[in-house]
Amino acid sequence: MKIPDIIIAIDGYSSTGKSTLAKKIARKFGFLYLDSGALYRGVTLFAQEEGFINRISVIDPTLKEALKSLDLHFDAEGKLCMGARCIEPQIRSMEVSAQVSPIAAVPYVREWVDEMLHEFGRRGRIVMDGRDIGTAVFPDAQLKIFMTASEEVRARRRYDELVAKGENPLLEEVVKNLRERDYIDSHRETAPLRRAEDAFELDNSDMSFEEELAWVQGLIQGKFGIL
Ligand code: C5P
Repeated sequence: MKIPDIIIAIDGYSSTGKSTLAKKIARKFGFLYLDSGALYRGVTLFAQEEGFINRISVIDPTLKEALKSLDLHFDAEGKLCMGARCIEPQIRSMEVSAQVSPIAAVPYVREWVDEMLHEFGRRGRIVMDGRDIGTAVFPDAQLKIFMTASEEVRARRRYDELVAKGENPLLEEVVKNLRERDYIDSHRETAPLRRAEDAFELDNSDMSFEEELAWVQGLIQGKFGIL
């Protein structure tokens, strides 16, 4: 049996494993996976490279105009590109992580990203992960999941990811970055990170990935009557 044409929104705190879970669900049901955080990271890299943000994260308001000519898109493998350049490795760096939340708090940046997200959403059959997908981008999404995990588990996860990519981070720096991002993301005025009232909460601190998947499949089965 086929899952109906729906939008699945997966939101939650940083490094809770949203993208791993979202990708797996998308593959299993033949949906498109869309990583909304990658777009905020892409805008941040652009702002850094073009000098629209300084070291203390003061953002030049002319960024708004410059966004009109910014070309961010996903290639066939789902990797983010800026024009002809694949920027996947750069957007996952600690430098970008350190400034992405201030950039993502800017209303015109959110509007720019939301426009792209809505375009993808029109096609249906999509799993999108982020911070405000179930609350602001697609408040009518048919299935919403809100992910949390202990700070220790999340920091270790992000640390291991960075090491696997050849970076040499300090664990304290990783913890500091997660705390800062979660704080800014939850306290900004526009579309703050919070659980939608109708979202199912998944705390995966003590769960294996297989357990998480079984949990989600149970939800989908219960909600849509399919396996
Ligand atoms: O998901 P990821 O950790 O890559 O997201 C990077 C940052 O992008 C988040 O910390 C948040 O500031 C911003 N973001 C957002 N809204 C989304 C997705 C990401 O504000 N829907």
